[in-house]
Amino acid sequence: MSLRFNAIQNLSLTENVPVENSSKITAIFGSNVFTLKTAREFLSDEAYKSLTSSVKSSQKIDRAMANQIANGIRAWAESKGVTHFTHWFQPLTGTTAEKHDSFFTLKSDGTPIEQFEGDALIQQEPDASSFPSGGLRATFEARGYTAWDPSSPAFIMDIGAGKTLCIPTIFVSYTGESLDYKAPLLKALEALNKAAVDVCNYFDKNVTKVAATLGWEQEYFVIDEGLFNARPDLLMTGRTVYGHSSAKNQQLEDHYFGSIPERVYAYMRDYETESYKLGIPLRTRHNEVAPAQFECAPIFEEVSVAVDHNSLLMDVMDRVARRHNLRVLLHEKPFAGINGSGKHNNWSMATDTGVNLLAPGKTPKTNLMFLTFFVNTIKAVHDYADVMRASIASAPNDHRLGANEAPPAIISVFIGQYLSKVLGDVKSRVTEKMDETDESLLKIEIHKSIPELLLDNTDRNRTSPFAFTGNKFEFRAVGSSANCANAMTVLNVIVAETLKQFKKDVDALIEKGEKKEIAIMQTIRQYIVASEKVLFEGDGYSEAWAKEAEKRGLANVKTTPLALDAMVTKKAMSLFESNNIYTHSELEARHEIELEKYIKKVQIESRIMGELATSHVLPASIRYQNILANNIKGLKEIGLAESSYSNQKQILEQISEHINKTSNLVEKMIDARKKANAIKDTREKAIAYQAKIKDTFFDDIRYHVDKLELLVDDREWYLPKYREMLFLR
Ligand code: ADP
Ligand code: MG
Repeated sequence: MSLRFNAIQNLSLTENVPVENSSKITAIFGSNVFTLKTAREFLSDEAYKSLTSSVKSSQKIDRAMANQIANGIRAWAESKGVTHFTHWFQPLTGTTAEKHDSFFTLKSDGTPIEQFEGDALIQQEPDASSFPSGGLRATFEARGYTAWDPSSPAFIMDIGAGKTLCIPTIFVSYTGESLDYKAPLLKALEALNKAAVDVCNYFDKNVTKVAATLGWEQEYFVIDEGLFNARPDLLMTGRTVYGHSSAKNQQLEDHYFGSIPERVYAYMRDYETESYKLGIPLRTRHNEVAPAQFECAPIFEEVSVAVDHNSLLMDVMDRVARRHNLRVLLHEKPFAGINGSGKHNNWSMATDTGVNLLAPGKTPKTNLMFLTFFVNTIKAVHDYADVMRASIASAPNDHRLGANEAPPAIISVFIGQYLSKVLGDVKSRVTEKMDETDESLLKIEIHKSIPELLLDNTDRNRTSPFAFTGNKFEFRAVGSSANCANAMTVLNVIVAETLKQFKKDVDALIEKGEKKEIAIMQTIRQYIVASEKVLFEGDGYSEAWAKEAEKRGLANVKTTPLALDAMVTKKAMSLFESNNIYTHSELEARHEIELEKYIKKVQIESRIMGELATSHVLPASIRYQNILANNIKGLKEIGLAESSYSNQKQILEQISEHINKTSNLVEKMIDARKKANAIKDTREKAIAYQAKIKDTFFDDIRYHVDKLELLVDDREWYLPKYREMLFLR
């Protein structure tokens, strides 16, 4: 029996995996994290002080204290049954990486002991030569090292066999180039902090720190593991390269917010429990639009912690799914014809005085501060839309952006009707000759119209890639499998850059003798005018918007190789360099790495398409072709008239045509791949993979294969069908 039918049969035998029934979330929350509270218990006063000051200032751990801290962490970890430790990091592959070492070692006289030295806590040299480096390590220095980022606490991974102490680290080359997602993110957050504090101080001198905040919403699919294993394409690429849509998919909209299927529910509770232990503050869970699609979201946190937590969650979700004989699909587009998955990044900024800078205020003064940060964010997106587009570009995300699905590849900002009106008022009423009476009048008017915002939570536009949703912006174009760090690095650095310019512009007016608040209003007005064209309130999916955007001069780059160009323009280089995020060579290296990732992903998809066509689809079709041919031959032989087998003949002709087309196209695709592989320039090669392979062949081959799926006897078809993967569990 084929894997497909085996899997279907096994489904009815599958029992729900019992899930640990936690009493209260608060009882387990953070129990696997070395929090400062835990540190208090396990560290000496001296070591504890040293650790907290490193955490607060994001500084490296003091070497002299490292041994003590490491011992404390080991004592805690061992009290929980941990035997191994690893530096945990987020390399540019997009997943997380670990290399386990045990605490166990031998003394010089052979006595076995457990130990964890300070050096091992602070720094490690993983053999990282096969992580992507874009040539950085090749040119400068062969080795890279991981270094503890104390702002992110150590944690225990307790899924599967054994428990492991994980030390969150950044990953850098010996010459200091960052080789991961985390190091540049931390730099961007520092740039934002500095720029935002400066601007805050116009309004409130007490602000000394601004932290960007992130609340992601993770969408995913869950399918049965047996069915998953019978689909080599899912196994290799995370998406189905073939599969005819099922008679029913999402048109009834009966899955959205419907009751969660029992088996998935058990899975959710299980991964939530593991997440709580790891301090990931998950809050919501629900069904999504497509069948078998779900979403979870946490309470928002500071960006760097939120990014770690999302990376960790993706790993936890995958591990726990296997425990339930399920597979979680984090790919942006696992199934054609139904909704894909995204990861909305809700983003805002918070001061150390407890103010959310994107929340409308209670007084005219705080509302001017709100307006300042609000308009600066819009200006940043306007000025650097291309860099934002590049930050979310990936082979899997190309299946969403611009492919008739949420959201379009055009970067625009939705702000809702009330704020549109506020910006309109500022634009028409702020003048160069404005005096203090005008100023305070306007301030009060703005203040009056803003509270309506709070009642206006329904004013949502689901088709916008970057939408204001009451007290935060929601960057919706981020892909479900992406590490949020890339998008967050860019968003935070472009806002930092814009705020820096804002401060210069306001100060220049003040120097000319303008009153501070009037200078601020005039600069805000100038920014509104300069960035107007990025604002769009209508239907982002419509043809009309694509046309309108073109007229406005907004870019609509639909493919990754071209979208990535924006990483290495003069503008981008100066943005990243002047804010100390990436040097020239780091940026070039990242560009190269992203292109290579694209090439590899499309290459693997193309290979699996070819392989599945020749080893699954064609044999099944030919078997059925033979059955039909023999049938016709037999009917003919016994002397029946042609009319008695004309339908069989018709089907046979169709099958034969699709077989030939599939086979020819696959041959041609292989040729195209050979040509593309010969291209030396990485960018040219990526473009060839996109234009000459993906765009030229993928849909075409799939069309014929999917037709065959409908024609061929179901018993001959060994690949699980869409209806089975999406509806059986
Ligand atoms: P939605 O209707 O889009 O689901 P929610 O209010 O449920 O909106 O919030 C979605 C996400 O936005 C959650 O993860 C939440 O924590 C996050 N969020 C709320 N406020 C902020 C903020 N100030 N900064 C960052 N994220 C936030
Ligand atoms: Mg949302």
